[in-house]
Amino acid sequence: MAGPRTPKGRARETAARLAIEYPGSARDLCALDFSTPFQLLVATVLSAQTTDERVNMVTPAVFARYRSPAALGAADPSELETLIHSTGFFRSKTRSLIGLGRAIDERFDGEVPTAMEDLVTVPGVGRKTANVLRSVGFGLPGLPVDTHVTRLTRLLGLTESTDAERIEREVCSLLPASQWGAFSLRLILHGRRVCVARRPRCGGCVLADFCPSAQLPNRPAPASAIGPGAVSGRSSRRFG
Ligand code: SF4
Repeated sequence: MAGPRTPKGRARETAARLAIEYPGSARDLCALDFSTPFQLLVATVLSAQTTDERVNMVTPAVFARYRSPAALGAADPSELETLIHSTGFFRSKTRSLIGLGRAIDERFDGEVPTAMEDLVTVPGVGRKTANVLRSVGFGLPGLPVDTHVTRLTRLLGLTESTDAERIEREVCSLLPASQWGAFSLRLILHGRRVCVARRPRCGGCVLADFCPSAQLPNRPAPASAIGPGAVSGRSSRRFG
């Protein structure tokens, strides 16, 4: 049977096959440990340029010390820097965390907002983090676009763009809103485990029969699979 030939067809087939490979909801698929949207926001900010495992090592102490946005907003910077030091970029992350604690306390009555237009006004929160909050934290539509999502959606011919906001818009238009979050998280897992940046393992990929970038016998790997678009260097980085 011929594979899907349109971006929408490929997106839907990819979503269906990856749902079998990586089952569960967006929350199930997220490897960051958290109990509340506020904790997820803190963990997501800390996850930039490091691994989920590293973040999960420091967050128990951070969550215990700062139980609310108000407490985080009033944190002593040097104390917070010490707690998060091992996640890297600890000075800028400390500034973001204190800023977001204050903003949520002062402007949103201590509750993490759910609307994209509110979330992106919080210090340290861009569209990617906001979409993590919406999809993983609140179960709302949201498609985080990280380096894996950028790379795989291009390889799969779902978009030609390299601009995260445009990729988000184009890929969202191909799938039902209820699938956006889990689809993004599954692409990230697939990008770590199979469609790795430097050498995609097309031979073991469940998408190979219709992926336009599949490395078929007698055909060299496409430049897009190993070129500048293949950006992630750390296999277990998330949302970074
Ligand atoms: S077939 Fe190859 S290039 Fe296409 S998604 Fe799978 S691993 Fe990536």
